[in-house]
Amino acid sequence: MTQVEAQRLVELAKRRGFFLQSAGAYGGISGFYTYGPQGAALKRNVEDTWRDRFAIQEGHMEVDAPTVLPEPVFEASGHLDGFDDMLVECPECSESHRADHIIEDDPDTGIEEAESLAPERVEEVIAEYELVCPTCGTGLAGQAIEQFNLMFETNIGPGSSSPGYLRPETAQGIFIEFPQLAEYARNQLPFGVTQIGRAYRNEISPRKSLLRVREFSQAELELFVDPEEDEPDLSSVADVSARFYPATAQDCEGGGVIETTIAEAVDHGIVADPWIAYYLGVAAEWYDRIGLDMDRFRFRQHRPGELAHYSEDCWDAEGDVSDPGEDPDWIELGGFAYRADYDLSKHDSHSEEEFTIFKQYDDPVTVETPTVDPDMSYLGPEFGGAAGDVAAALETLAADDPDAFEGEEVTVEVDDESYTVPVEQTGFAVEEVTESGEHVTPHVVEPSLGIDRALYTALDHSYREDEVDGEQRTYLSLPPEVAPTTVGVFPLMDKDGLGERARELAQDLRATGLAVTYDDSGAIGRRYRRQDEVGTPYCVTVDYDTLEDGTVTIRDRDSTTQRRVAIETLGATIEALVEGEQAFEDI
Ligand code: ATP
Repeated sequence: MTQVEAQRLVELAKRRGFFLQSAGAYGGISGFYTYGPQGAALKRNVEDTWRDRFAIQEGHMEVDAPTVLPEPVFEASGHLDGFDDMLVECPECSESHRADHIIEDDPDTGIEEAESLAPERVEEVIAEYELVCPTCGTGLAGQAIEQFNLMFETNIGPGSSSPGYLRPETAQGIFIEFPQLAEYARNQLPFGVTQIGRAYRNEISPRKSLLRVREFSQAELELFVDPEEDEPDLSSVADVSARFYPATAQDCEGGGVIETTIAEAVDHGIVADPWIAYYLGVAAEWYDRIGLDMDRFRFRQHRPGELAHYSEDCWDAEGDVSDPGEDPDWIELGGFAYRADYDLSKHDSHSEEEFTIFKQYDDPVTVETPTVDPDMSYLGPEFGGAAGDVAAALETLAADDPDAFEGEEVTVEVDDESYTVPVEQTGFAVEEVTESGEHVTPHVVEPSLGIDRALYTALDHSYREDEVDGEQRTYLSLPPEVAPTTVGVFPLMDKDGLGERARELAQDLRATGLAVTYDDSGAIGRRYRRQDEVGTPYCVTVDYDTLEDGTVTIRDRDSTTQRRVAIETLGATIEALVEGEQAFEDI
């Protein structure tokens, strides 16, 4: 798509009701978009396919948590301290910019990923390459870099004693309910919990319409696994083909993208973690299903510097939204991370609840547990105020090094002082305890996809211009399953009973569950163009023959070819076309 085409897409999106900047009557509000009737329907369909693939087909549970959560949740998750972007303010026009983006956008720096650089290094790079304000061109050298927290803060209830935040991701709403969710899953690992919903980030500089906004929708799956036992069954995605851009290829001259199947990617160690590989396969199928051009799609592995400290491996799904003739403009569509036990351990230690699963052993095991029961009537007079600490130190030592109690005496350190106690005064004993299982903290595998970026990329990749009957036409080749409207129904003219028959037909088709629009205004060609522009895959025309023989014409959006079909079979034919069970040429 060329720049001109991109502008046309945004213009089309507004004119035809896909999306528009919110609150235009009040000057517009940056980073907030309203989905119009076409966009809302497209978004709902995209979300439904996600729900179908990631929740229903996988047998996972879906939840719907609040968008506002109290501060302790984000203290535990690390967002309060670390969910920052680097902000640089222009000394001339006072516009705020993301410092890492300014570095990435200048090809001279040769830095493709600046988010992980330290702020001091960012200041150096800005000075070294004499980078300027993208708005007014003033040099930014010497400007301080501020760490800007992206969360929107609010107060829960009146007053300020209970701060809360709009969630910056949907995931925390799942993690904090883990103890209850585990119960719903009958404490059996692995189990998955999904959520689709709004997330809020006070982005420093929203840009590229839907691609970087302050309120957006995420579709996240948190899969809880037993790291020692659970493995995915890769067979259902083994043959899915995709493009992989491993970290090693990004760091070496001439390193390229590898196109291969999921099975090969695992066998050749391109994707090390089988769970991640599984979800890359599921996601590749899903992006294809909603209309992305898979030649302009890739999975890029995070380089070591980009990885969060707890994450063992992470891949991003990326879509190219550039002019095909020009340098690709890759945007992140989703992230796939192996998060280990980071999230559950954090909530376990910050909250009152346990974020573990009790794992039953196949057979109970008997373990020897060293214990102490120090004689305080000996320790008290002997060690005075330190007696309590000495007893505690003996307990720790018994657990860590029971062999230390083998002699006559045992020595412990308390506040740099040594205390020696006769073993017989410690009450040391080794008890045999039979255990039926153990508490384990599950690991988390997280595919986290952005709905708005996926939707925008699907529109971008399906935008087409061609010529029909000597006339320029614009159409969206969206897959029928996600197109906002499935069928346009037109009477040839609104007279001689044609309008009535067509309205009746539209109503009958709606009753079968299809999304149908009725249009009788203007020339038939104009009506086709209107539906082409919003991606309606099929248009049905009621004409004089319909009144005679009960047939209608059905027209295919992409090829513009037409067929005649009996009204009785029309619903079933459209359903078969949408499901991909029948090709239009075979009607
Ligand atoms: P970026 O680096 O582009 O800011 P991120 O790595 O912070 O994105 P994640 O936290 O991984 O994003 O969020 C998961 C997904 O949510 C992203 O892949 C993207 O599709 C979507 N997303 C994140 N931030 C935004 C935003 N400001 N506007 C639209 N979608 C977003």
